[in-house]
Amino acid sequence: MNEETIIRTAVVTGGSRGIGRAICVALAKQGCNVAVNYCHGEAAAAETVTLCKAAGVDALAVQADVSTAEGVKTLFEKAVNAFGRVDILVNNAGITRDGLLLRLSEEDFDKVLDTNLKSTFLCCKEAARRMVRQRYGRIINLSSVVALRGNAGQTNYAASKAGLIGLTKSLARELAGRNITVNAIAPGLIETDMTAALPEAVRTEMAKGIPAGRAGQPEDVANAAAFFAAEQSSYLTGQVLCVDGGMAM
Ligand code: NAP
Repeated sequence: MNEETIIRTAVVTGGSRGIGRAICVALAKQGCNVAVNYCHGEAAAAETVTLCKAAGVDALAVQADVSTAEGVKTLFEKAVNAFGRVDILVNNAGITRDGLLLRLSEEDFDKVLDTNLKSTFLCCKEAARRMVRQRYGRIINLSSVVALRGNAGQTNYAASKAGLIGLTKSLARELAGRNITVNAIAPGLIETDMTAALPEAVRTEMAKGIPAGRAGQPEDVANAAAFFAAEQSSYLTGQVLCVDGGMAM
C-alpha cells in the first residue's frame, strides 16, 4: 500500500459506544477514514463521528443491523459510496442475552449467534471481496476471554465468541496469500454499558480473578485493534490477543 496517496478506510461495526467507539477513535488517530456503524444509538454514533473528525479524518455514521444480510449490504454500500474502499474491518458489534442453559430460550441463543457470529461472517464476505481485489486488508474480530474459559450463564455468548476464533483462524489461512490479515482480540472485563449491566457483586467477584486487580477500559482494547491495523503488523495473522489484565493465562 502506498501510504502517501491512499487514505485507508475502516468499517467498525457497533462503533456508537463502548469498545467500538474507542476503536473508531484509535483508527482515526492512525489517519483512517471511519464508517461508524450503529444499530439503535444515532446520537451516540454522531458523537463518535465528531470524535473521529477531531482527529483530522473523515467519518460517517451508518445505521444498519449487522445481524442481517440486508443490513450488512447497506453498511458496505454506504461506506464504499462515501470513501471508495474498505481497508480495515472491525467486527465489534455484540450483545449478551445471559441465562443458565436450562432456562435459555432458543430465541436468545439465535439472537446472540446472529449478532455476534453471523454478522462477522456476513461482514467478512463483503469486505474480503473488496480486499482481495485491492490485495490489501486488515480484519479484526472481537472475541472474548469467555471463548477460552467458558462462563456459566453464557453458553450462547461463549459459543458465539469461540466460533469467532475458529472463523478468524480459518479466514486467516484463506486470505494470507492476498496480503490480508485476520486476527481476533479477546477482551476480559472492560468497563462499558455491557458490563455495567452486570450486578455489582458479579463484577467485584470477576475483578478478584484478574491479576491486574481491576477492569480494563475501552481504550485498552482499542490499542490492540490499532496494533493489528497498523501497517507494521503485516506479518501477523490468525492470532488471538487477550486484553484482560492477565485473566485468561
Ligand atoms: P456495548 O457497550 O454493549 O456496545 C455494543 C455495540 O454494539 C453498540 O455500539 C451497539 O450499537 C452495537 N450493536 C449491537 N447489536 C448490533 C447490531 N445488530 N447491529 C449493529 N450494531 C449493533 O458493548 P462493548 O462492551 O463495547 O463490547 C464491544 C464488543 O466487545 C462486543 O462484541 C463484546 O462482546 C466484546 N467484549 C466486550 C467485553 C466487555 O467486558 N465489555 C469483554 C469481552 C468482549 P447500538 O447502541 O447503536 O445499538
